[in-house]
Order: sequence, then C-alpha cells, then structure tokens
Amino acid sequence: MALIVQKFGGTSVANTERIFNVADIVTKTAAAGNQVVVVVSAQGDTTDDFIEKAGEITSNPPAREMDVLLSAGEQISMALLAMAIEKLGFRATSLTGWQAGIRTDLNYGSARIHKVKPERIQSLLDRNRIVIVAGFQGINSHDSITTLGRGGSDTTAVAIAAALHADLCQIYTDVDGVYTADPRIVPGAKKLDEITFDEMLELATLGAQVLHNRSVEMAKKYNVDLEVVSSLTRNPGTKVKEVTSVEKMIISGVACDKDTARVTVCGLPDEPGKAFRVFSLLAKNKINIDIILQTSSNQPGTKQDISFTVATASREAAVKILEENKDRLHFDSVTSQDGLAKVSIVGSGMVSNPGVAAKMFEALSDAHVNILMIATSEIKISVVIDIADSGRALRAVHDKFFE
Ligand code: ADP
Ligand code: ASP
Ligand code: MG
Repeated sequence: MALIVQKFGGTSVANTERIFNVADIVTKTAAAGNQVVVVVSAQGDTTDDFIEKAGEITSNPPAREMDVLLSAGEQISMALLAMAIEKLGFRATSLTGWQAGIRTDLNYGSARIHKVKPERIQSLLDRNRIVIVAGFQGINSHDSITTLGRGGSDTTAVAIAAALHADLCQIYTDVDGVYTADPRIVPGAKKLDEITFDEMLELATLGAQVLHNRSVEMAKKYNVDLEVVSSLTRNPGTKVKEVTSVEKMIISGVACDKDTARVTVCGLPDEPGKAFRVFSLLAKNKINIDIILQTSSNQPGTKQDISFTVATASREAAVKILEENKDRLHFDSVTSQDGLAKVSIVGSGMVSNPGVAAKMFEALSDAHVNILMIATSEIKISVVIDIADSGRALRAVHDKFFE
C-alpha cells in the first residue's frame, strides 16, 4: 500500500463531467489499495472571476478580505469532488486549508507555508477515507485565511506530500507533462520524460506555469517524488527529480513571462553607493526586482542610468517611490514601460557548451525581434522584449534548439 497525493488543477475540475473524471482517477487509485489525499484548485476561471468581482467593488480591496474571497473557489471544488466520490461508493471527507493544518506566514496573497500539521488528514486516512484538501490556502497566526499566490495549489500538494512522507505526489493538469516550451504557444514543443528539480525550478520561475515554482523548491528540499500528468489523456507524464537518467541536454526548455515591466533611473551620479541607495529603497518598500542593467561608460564622471524589471503590478509603486526620493538619490528622471515579456532558455548543460547565447540571439535576429535587456546565469539566459513579439520569439528560440 502506498500513500499518494494527487492534485487536480482548475481545468481538470471545471465542470460536472470533469469532476466525475477526477473521482474516477482517485477511486481507481484507492481501489488499487492506496491511501489517497487529493488537493483541488478552483473550477475553471473561478479565481479570475472573483478578482473581477472584487474590482467591481473597489480598486484597492483589503488584502485579508481578498484572501477570504479567493479561497472560496477551492472550497466549492472540494465539496463537489467529495460528493462525486461518495456517489461512486467510496468514503471521502473534504477539508479547508486550516482544517488540514496548513499554517502560513502573514503575507496575504502570497503566503508561504511554514508548517503542515498532518494529524487530522492522517487520522482520516487511518479510517479509510479519501481526504480532499482545498489547494492554495492556509491559515496564519491571527487565525485568518491566507492564499499562497496564483497557481499555489501545486505547493499545497507538495507540502502535504512532504508532511505525510507520501510515496508519490502527482500533479494532474490539462497537458501531458512538462514540455520543452508551452505546447499551446509552440506547436513543436516536445514532452520531457524527466527533468531535474533545478531546471524545473528555473523554468517555473521564468514563466512556465505548469508547476508553481515554490512547489518545485519544496519538492527538492524534502525530496518528494513528483510527477506531472494529464487528467484528460492518461498518457505517461514527466518525472521531476534530483538527477535524471537521460543524457544531459544543453537546453531543457524555453519559457516566457509576460508579466514584465521596466523602470529606468536616468542620470545617477557616477559614485559608489548609487545602486545601493536605489535598491535598498525599493527593497524597503517590498518591491521585487528581477533583471538589473547599468549603463557603463569608459569616461569617469559621466552620469549613469540603471534599468530594472519588475512585475507589471509593481511598476507604478516603484516609479512613485523613486520620484519621492529624487533629491536624495540625485538622479535626473525616471521612466517606465510595461507591455514587455521575458523569454528565457534553461539548461544545466549550457555551462560547458560555448555558443549557446549566440545561437539564441541568432534565432531572435532571424525573427526580427529587438532585445531590450539581457541577463544570464549558469543555467539560463533571459532576454526582455516587446510583448507583441513574445510568441514569435518563443517559437523561434525553441525551434533553433529543438528542431
Ligand atoms: P492547472 O490549472 O492544472 O494548475 P495551469 O494552467 O496552471 O494548470 O498549468 C498548465 C498549463 O501550463 C498548460 O496548459 C500550458 O499551457 C502551460 N505551460 C507553460 N509552459 C509549459 C511547459 N513548459 N510544459 C507544459 N505546460 C506548460
Ligand atoms: N485557484 C488558484 C489560481 O487560479 C490556485 C491554483 O489554481 O493553483 O491561481
Ligand atoms: Mg497551475
């Protein structure tokens, strides 16, 4: 007998037929002699609809109440699935995040799980129940509901799998596994049988939403046996693991993040401490920075510009804070631009293979895509481009490495 955690995303539970399809997968797993904990997302576009509804009331909803609202979607799914499972003749009990013992920090909207108290889930399993847990939510030290950030149900599933020492954590979704690029944007994308935690973490962080990046981080930390599979086709999926048995590829995938804006601080004095002053101010105001670029001049004393990227929702706040501190930071002006995208290639093999960057830039050049910023690390190269070019760029870069 194994203990298996199965997570089903929004498309997989979108309507009655899909809920019965999930109930079928879950009960077959239980009938094969396994203990099963199921984690569910909200149905279809429910979470987006809730965000829209809140927007009809106010443009600035209290963060605590936003989480109360958003967590409701998962509560609907869990009850409907429990009913479907019971209808198939199995015993099921649904639990909200707090009932399931998911404790988080205080950050509404992007809370981190700091502890899972699995006793209640465990005692239900011991009584031969299938346990269904609402994904994406927990409770903080004020006993208030928190949510984990968009796509966070994957992280709920991995956290529960880690806490229960589950034998396997399966993320059921609407594609057959992890592909070399989003198969909806790149028709030639290929399914990977295996991928390492590190590569998956980079891909997820750089925009491949097939897994929530924190779920991958947690699976690596607690060595959770993780796989991504389709709830619709039942084809073999993708295993995410520490080391893969296949030969290391130079590039394992291409990702695109369309939530990118750029801010440029122009005319900073060429003196020590300028970057420190700019970025410590932004950090104090909890603005998350991604790529940073400083102009370099070989003439000492020339004023310098620093550009950085942020999520689109942070652009206005970043500009406002900088403007307010213009005199203290001694810069000339600040400009900003949204409607950008970041296209990245990821692969641990690129460290030892020269020419990878040139190949990526050649693909972009051939597709007439203008690069605004470049950032590299040992296992990734990212470029910031106009969002209108993102689909074309993603396909061009993907095909250059995989065709
Ligand atoms: P769920 O609702 O099941 O959590 P998501 O929409 O969060 O599903 O994630 C699945 C989607 O991720 C797919 O439909 C696909 O369009 C997208 N995706 C982006 N990059 C990749 C990739 N590299 N491999 C597979 N899917 C990807
Ligand atoms: N329902 C949440 C969302 O849409 C969480 C999830 O699906 O993982 O982001
Ligand atoms: Mg998801």
